[in-house]
Amino acid sequence: MIELIDIQKRFGDLHVLKGISLQFAEGSVTALVGPSGGGKSTLLRCINLLEVPTSGTVRIGQASVSFEPNRKVGWKSIQALRRQTGMVFQNFQLFPHRTAIENVMEGLVTVLGWDKPRATKRATELLERVGLAQKADAWPATLSGGQQQRVAIARALAPSPRVLLCDEPTSALDPELAEEVVDVLAGLAREGTTMVMATHDLRLASRIAQEVVFLDGGVVAEKGPARDVFKDPKAERTRRFLASLQ
Ligand code: ATP
Ligand code: MG
Repeated sequence: MIELIDIQKRFGDLHVLKGISLQFAEGSVTALVGPSGGGKSTLLRCINLLEVPTSGTVRIGQASVSFEPNRKVGWKSIQALRRQTGMVFQNFQLFPHRTAIENVMEGLVTVLGWDKPRATKRATELLERVGLAQKADAWPATLSGGQQQRVAIARALAPSPRVLLCDEPTSALDPELAEEVVDVLAGLAREGTTMVMATHDLRLASRIAQEVVFLDGGVVAEKGPARDVFKDPKAERTRRFLASLQ
């Protein structure tokens, strides 16, 4: 179980997250949707602590960290929580001077201290899982966007995180390349990978998410099973937003 309790985030005077409390069940897939600037990326970054919440609690399995303004949280607690997460970014963010398999192995070797043979075996399995076994030794620049994103997904999954966080995983891709990434994410969803995904792509959201959270102006305006929120939104703001995308 992943639990966020009253997460607030301020950037100076800008109050971006205004008390977000959510739970994500093991094996569930949740789409974070809503207007640009609503706080989706910030919320994902507060789950893996790329951003430090101003206040609130993030709990992932046994790891839990609470934040208060002006109180420093130990690096060890932050690391322990971050290790429960894997993150996939819109623009892939592969290491350009490492091959595909080296990208997947990197964290296993440098962060977790695995030896090379063990990391190679795990990375090979993951590249197979995302359909890129034959590209193990390719440089990122020689891969298509969809292939780079699939390497990034393999890298995020390498340390077996409890939750895969995806920030607009398909929005930098042409439709047919997006499709191959969606296929991989859909396969992971079927296998029970817990995912929280910010996306503007409602087709992606409705294909793989069971739950939808509609974030607007830093608050949860609506949440519920995907088919209810998409077919019969309760909040006026959700209705207007969905209509604007038609
Ligand atoms: P989009 O759909 O465009 O990706 P989003 O819902 O992901 O939008 P965020 O990126 O979380 O929105 O941004 C929410 C607000 O926080 C915006 O007003 C943004 O300018 C602001 N913001 C985000 N990161 C920072 C930062 N590091 N410093 C200052 N303001 C920030
Ligand atoms: Mg964003």
